Amino acid sequence: MTGEIKLTGIVLGSVPMGDYDRRISLLTVEKGRISAFAKGARRPMSALRAASRLFTYATFTVYAWRDSYSVTNCENPVYFDEITMDPEKTYYGMYFCELLEYFTRENSDEKEQVKLLFTAMKALIKGHIPLPLIRRIFELRALANYGEAPNVFECSVCRKKEDVKEWVFDIGRGVISCADCARAGGAGQAEGFKSDVIKMSETVRYTMHYVITSQYKSLFSFNLSPEVLAVFEKAVGQYLKIHVDKPLKTLELLDGVDYNV
Ligand SMILES: [Zn+2]
Repeated sequence: MTGEIKLTGIVLGSVPMGDYDRRISLLTVEKGRISAFAKGARRPMSALRAASRLFTYATFTVYAWRDSYSVTNCENPVYFDEITMDPEKTYYGMYFCELLEYFTRENSDEKEQVKLLFTAMKALIKGHIPLPLIRRIFELRALANYGEAPNVFECSVCRKKEDVKEWVFDIGRGVISCADCARAGGAGQAEGFKSDVIKMSETVRYTMHYVITSQYKSLFSFNLSPEVLAVFEKAVGQYLKIHVDKPLKTLELLDGVDYNV
C-alpha cells in the first residue's frame, strides 16, 4: 500500500541513522510492530525530535511505501518523562520494550500488547507497588497476549479447580496439578516428560490466574506478601525463560539493579 496512514502506538526502540535521522521501532494498534524512518528527527527544531524518543505514545502519521514507513507527524503525544528521569524505572521500561520486540510482529494484531505496555508504564510512574512485581505481572500478561499463557485454571489431571491448598506448577508443560495428583505422578511425569516443577500456594495460583484474565485498569492494582511474591517471581521467571530463546540486553541492566533470577 502507498499513502499516508495514522497509527496509534508507542516507540519501542529508536536508533540514530546518518547525521540527522532516526529509525524507530513502533508498536501500533493498527499494523502491529513496524520499523519506521524519522527523517530529520535529530535536528534541533524538528517536529519529530520528541516523537521519535523511546517510550513516546502518540498517534503517528506515517507515509507507507511498499514495505517501508516514514513518520511525517505526531499528535497527542504522551512522553512518560517521569520514567526517563528515573534510571531504575528507565531500565524496567526498556526491558518491557525489548520483551515486546520479541513477542510482536508486523501486521499482526498487537492491540493487547499496546494496552499492556501503556498500562505498565503508568504503573511504573505511579510506583505504588514494587517494581519487581510490576515486572512479573507484565511478563506473564505479555506471554498470555502472545498466546502462551500457562493453564493455571484447573488441575491438569483431575480437573479440580477449588478446595486445593497446594499446587505444583509444571514449568515445561505450562500446567498445574493439585498436590494429590502431583504425588501420584501427575506433574512433570506425564508422557515420560520430566521438567522442573515449582510448588505454589493457592494464593500464587490465583495471582497468576488474575494476571492472565484481569482488565488492564486493575492489572497493576494489587500487592503481595514477600513470601508470595518470591514464588510468583520464580514461577513467572522460569516459565518466561522457556519461551524466550535469546538473551535480552536490557535484562543485564535490570539484573545489575536488583535482580537475581
Ligand atoms: Zn488433581
